[in-house]
Amino acid sequence: MKKASIVSIGNEVLSGRTVDTNAAYLSKQLLSIGIPVVGFYTVPDETDAIVRALKLAAADADIVLATGGLGPTDDDLTRQAFSEFLGVELQLHDELLRKMEDFFAGRNLKMPEKNKIQAYIPAGAKALPNNFGTAPGIMAKVKEKLLVALPGVPSEMKQMLEESVLPELRQLPGRQAVAVRKLRCFGAGESTIAELLGPVMQRGRNPLINCTVKYGVINLDIIATAENTNKARQMADNDEKSLRKTLGELVFGAAEQTLAEVVGQELARQKKTLAIAESCTGGTLAGLLTDIPGASRYFTYGWVTYGNDAKISELGIPADLLDKHGAVSEQVADAMARAARKKAAADFAIGITGIAGPTGGNEQKPVGLVHISVDSNNGCKTKRCLFSHDRKHIRLRAAQTALNMLRLILEI
Ligand code: ATP
Ligand code: MG
Repeated sequence: MKKASIVSIGNEVLSGRTVDTNAAYLSKQLLSIGIPVVGFYTVPDETDAIVRALKLAAADADIVLATGGLGPTDDDLTRQAFSEFLGVELQLHDELLRKMEDFFAGRNLKMPEKNKIQAYIPAGAKALPNNFGTAPGIMAKVKEKLLVALPGVPSEMKQMLEESVLPELRQLPGRQAVAVRKLRCFGAGESTIAELLGPVMQRGRNPLINCTVKYGVINLDIIATAENTNKARQMADNDEKSLRKTLGELVFGAAEQTLAEVVGQELARQKKTLAIAESCTGGTLAGLLTDIPGASRYFTYGWVTYGNDAKISELGIPADLLDKHGAVSEQVADAMARAARKKAAADFAIGITGIAGPTGGNEQKPVGLVHISVDSNNGCKTKRCLFSHDRKHIRLRAAQTALNMLRLILEI
């Protein structure tokens, strides 16, 4: 199987001023044509450092893609580093120079002398046209390896990859077909999911299962590699089926689906309505629900009753219930859900109350404590949750957990 490495060149990338979106983009594009990336290297604008990185990158990959450092200024050293790595001189390409002079002339400008360096390419290498800027890319073949330098500017890099590099890579022999399936889960931690899945998560397995987590949503990517597309798809589909079976109701969707989308689709299908009463989430749940186009088909009412007065006057929560149990209690979450359902005459209603922090907690009721209730024809279900991390995380986790409780009631 062909493998690739990516070298990101630039002090701005190394210092964190520029986030390396080029490497992420290239990696995804390569994987989509069956070439996995086995290493990322980030180096400053220094010839020696670039040459060292090219050596390391080429040692365990068949293809090396570098980005950045092709500009006309003294800190742009990629073409010098390429010529040193390849052991050849830089050669002036007259047609590149003419093209660049035309580029400036077309803008009524004289080409600065500094730009001339961009018409130099290592001997034996090919210049890749740049339709958006002046810096041509470089492609060189050396000892069965393909070495490419692309501009740092993301739009120029993408155009050059698309037009000059991917067509070349698609021709390479020994390239494999890749099929990717994505599952989204909620309701258990990463380690529980890994334990449930057992040996299928092993590194080096084909299909490879990658697991990432964001705000409680676990993403499982199933990446199957085979000699042809049909076989890869079949392997990925088989794994998807078996993972769905093992994880059961923890799986709520596929690809880029969100909990709000899945719940919304089901409410619309069943022609049911939903009302919500939020305290600590302050509209976060309403935001998730209304992010979905067409939410008005099922989402009818939402209250943000942040203070006790609002809970009493807007929802009719008894003042003595608040006095007796406190606003952050199972009883108040329950009463909020019931009141919202009744006032909105909805089929389902959610009540959320908790402490998002960072202050306001105590020993009995710590920061992160959230009570969530879902009321329906079949009664009111309440869950006591204790979330960690910061305020943003706690509020989002609470809203997502509420959606997940409703999902399970809807039996999706
Ligand atoms: P070029 O090779 O096109 O001349 P350069 O490295 O010489 O690029 P810079 O001025 O360093 O030019 O970068 C141009 C722009 O591209 C900057 O806005 C920079 O933030 C962005 N850029 C460079 N490298 C990356 C990267 N790895 N990921 C995302 N953006 C990048
Ligand atoms: Mg740079």
